[in-house]
Amino acid sequence: MPLTTLRLQVDDLCCSFDGRQVVSDVTLSVAEGQVMCLLGPSGCGKSTTLRAIAGVEIPDSGTIRIDGAPVFGPEGSVPPEHRGVGLIFQDFALFPHLSVADNVAFGLKGRKKDKRARAHALLERVHLERYLDSYPHELSGGEQQRVALARAIAPKPRVMLMDEPFSGLDNRLRDGIRDETLALLKEEGTAVLLVTHEPEEAMRMADEIALMRDGRIVQRGAPYNVYNAPADRAAAAFFSDIN
Ligand code: ADP
Ligand code: MG
Repeated sequence: MPLTTLRLQVDDLCCSFDGRQVVSDVTLSVAEGQVMCLLGPSGCGKSTTLRAIAGVEIPDSGTIRIDGAPVFGPEGSVPPEHRGVGLIFQDFALFPHLSVADNVAFGLKGRKKDKRARAHALLERVHLERYLDSYPHELSGGEQQRVALARAIAPKPRVMLMDEPFSGLDNRLRDGIRDETLALLKEEGTAVLLVTHEPEEAMRMADEIALMRDGRIVQRGAPYNVYNAPADRAAAAFFSDIN
């Protein structure tokens, strides 16, 4: 048995649009309980990589394994809903016609009572138990994002995919929600692939950073190492925005 379980393994992933390659030979892996940040400037191919892993974008080639089992590769493609991944995007897209509790319970299977109990426990965990029967529009942006987190985590996904989840939030709220999100994901032991264009966010949240440019991963390592020993001038310039 390996010491840590690799929840997500991506090898030589290539994606293109209209003959233009935007993701080139991306290889990365995320272990149980680990937060990997895919960091890079806008347009470098981060979201396409994440969408391919989620199963909503079809790659040209490469393999994607979740818990060791291929979900994309030469043998075919597993549909998104059977990949065991959770998704959180910038626009959290809660169902406006469902209560907060029903939003969180939505993707769960089993008895109604058990689904509701799981939803309650998670909403309590993110300090939103008073909003169980409220509707999304009655909550602030930060609160809605915490509901989205509870909803995504409720079915216990093996891998959580997050695409710039905090960039729509108020500066004042962002750090608190980042820390709270991180704590909850760590408690659940979920493997996380977090996409961001903000070096500061990656430094705060990542166990490991994969730095991406023009569709390729140009450097991988612990945040401290990537920050202190950038692979090239472009990487150094990218990090120089942090203060
Ligand atoms: P990032 O998330 O790093 O900003 P994306 O993965 O969204 O980058 O985009 C990478 C490149 O692919 C960009 O040049 C973008 O314009 C292009 N692209 C993304 N989605 C599509 C699409 N559906 N059709 C055509 N081009 C796309
Ligand atoms: Mg993007």
